[in-house]
Amino acid sequence: MRHAFGLMLASVAAAVAIAGVWYWTSAPRSDAAPPKTMAAKPADQSLAKLADDVETTASLQSRFAALHEAAPPALPQKACPNPDALGVSRVVEIDTTGGPGFGFEHFKQLDFLEPKEVVLTFDDGPWPGNTPAVLKALDDQCTKALFFPIGKHATYHPEILRQVLAAGHTVGAHTWSHANLNGKKITDQAAKDEVEKGFSAVRYALGTNPSPFFRFPQLEHNPQTMAYLGSRNVAMFSCDLDSFDFRKDSSPDKIVNTVMTKVDKLGKGIILMHDFQKNTALALPTLLRRLKDGGYKVVQMKAKTPFSTLPEYDDALAKDLKLPTVSARPVSSVVQTVSR
Ligand SMILES: [Zn+2]
Repeated sequence: MRHAFGLMLASVAAAVAIAGVWYWTSAPRSDAAPPKTMAAKPADQSLAKLADDVETTASLQSRFAALHEAAPPALPQKACPNPDALGVSRVVEIDTTGGPGFGFEHFKQLDFLEPKEVVLTFDDGPWPGNTPAVLKALDDQCTKALFFPIGKHATYHPEILRQVLAAGHTVGAHTWSHANLNGKKITDQAAKDEVEKGFSAVRYALGTNPSPFFRFPQLEHNPQTMAYLGSRNVAMFSCDLDSFDFRKDSSPDKIVNTVMTKVDKLGKGIILMHDFQKNTALALPTLLRRLKDGGYKVVQMKAKTPFSTLPEYDDALAKDLKLPTVSARPVSSVVQTVSR
């Protein structure tokens, strides 16, 4: 009898234990910790939302890593609704092995443009207002360009840089902080850091690797850094004609006239502009129409293979971003008194 009673007790205990395990493993728990694997996060989680979240530096790094794997969805390229648009006459794919150079102001080996062909390039973005206006002007003419964003700007406005990529444009890099890489005081290591951190910042913003296309700030080429870029298989871009849109006395009319006068003289070329500049954004609708009326055709440059950022620079950038440990939300939305 005692034996049977003992068995019964054991059975009850086992049943309770099994039920407990079942409850623990299958019942929903509102106090459960969120999954640690950031890969389970939606790929399109916005960076603005990230800034609103209460974050620790450690979790930021995890999200940074997750963003790297989360390429933005490619938007289907719609048919051009403007029958008289400038458009894109051809797309060229660049094998960047060994670091080829483009733009006859500095690199004269690769003469690939045919008469009346131009490449539109924009530096120093992304920037609110101006970059979206440039994107609209390009979109209105169903044409594509090549962008060289500044790394810091990419971290300030990642959502704008994502719009650039989503619109089908090519995105390279233009250093982390727009440092003159040919300055007297800059070391080879500092120049390398500017290059790599710039690319890592663009990757951070895009959620995918940029094109291995690079432009030196102020077109200040440094032989050691050029050799380094060659070893990283990054194509270097100068230009054939400068719009001088960054000058203090610039105006939309001046930009249009400068570009048209120079391109009419050269007959073709890579055009240097700045989506960072308001006057460029204002000039662009007229400039694109003038190019069309002048019989010019736009060539889009794409890379055969994407750039590969270095993990140590991705990690260093994540630490440098120093997202706040608490959000910018008002205290009242974060802390609620629930009892006194
Ligand atoms: Zn620049």
